[in-house]
Amino acid sequence: MARGKFALGCDVGATKVSVSVGVEPGVILDRITDRTYRMRNPKDLVSELRRMIADITEKNNLDISDCMGLGVAFAGFTDSRNGVIVASPNLEGWDNTPLKQILQDTLGVAVRVENDANVGAYGEYRHGGSVAGTDFLYVTLSTGIGGGLIIGGVPYEGDNGVAGEIGHTVVIPDGPKCGCGKQGCLEAVASGLAIERIANERMKRERTSLNDRAAEGKIDARTVFEEARNGDPLSSEIVDTACRYLGLSIANAVMLLSLSSVVIGGGMAREGEYLRRKVEHYMRKGIAGGPNENAKLHISKKPLEVVDIGALQLVFDSSGGKGGKD
Ligand SMILES: [Zn+2]
Repeated sequence: MARGKFALGCDVGATKVSVSVGVEPGVILDRITDRTYRMRNPKDLVSELRRMIADITEKNNLDISDCMGLGVAFAGFTDSRNGVIVASPNLEGWDNTPLKQILQDTLGVAVRVENDANVGAYGEYRHGGSVAGTDFLYVTLSTGIGGGLIIGGVPYEGDNGVAGEIGHTVVIPDGPKCGCGKQGCLEAVASGLAIERIANERMKRERTSLNDRAAEGKIDARTVFEEARNGDPLSSEIVDTACRYLGLSIANAVMLLSLSSVVIGGGMAREGEYLRRKVEHYMRKGIAGGPNENAKLHISKKPLEVVDIGALQLVFDSSGGKGGKD
């Protein structure tokens, strides 16, 4: 016998896509992720989603006719009112794609499409169990850097839906090229991909324990953090520089919006207190006195789940506002 009404969520990133299912707000009943997936175009995504949705519904004994809708968290600049992908710094060929319409026509369920960081901020606010309050910036640190704002308990999207995108604020004029086309964005100097790039460039000409680790496999941001913790000077320097740009950028956002809280989520949030303390050190330097000096920096308690939880919540909201804030 089928379980009854359910919501579907989908997190579309540059290097993976996941589909989650929920029957009550704040809880992921099941999630499947395809990490081998490399999205080439909207048509590919639609067929991948059809396959994954068929898998997860069958696995959980769900009948698609009971689906209340699909919430999509997309890694790109998104016009959420119309469900259109405006552009994506890390995914080519998506400019002005009416993703909501395409998915609704193909899958036959109601669809909402939002920027992934905005969805993460909303998931954090509704069900993250965070002490961040009703006004905060959510920063997602992973392959790229995203950001979403909750102001007065509701997502703040700005004039064109991309408010909070701290990753694409410029921190080094004429700095490294960013996926968005600009130079010197925060994402280009402090994201997981940036840390990986900088480490791989520098280890070619400097003596570092990263060279020993290279024999085990690819040097990525995770390895650099591990070696920084182990005391490798080059890794420590790379991590510290990234945290400096992050901390100062976060301080600027706190000053601009007079925020009392900032929450870090995403894959890099697994570095926990080690990361938080370093970023907070530079955040404090950037604030230094005044009414915002008590602003707090938190690590999300559910850094890898709030996007899926937020995507599912979009569906529960559209289906009659089921559930309150945890
Ligand atoms: Zn950029």
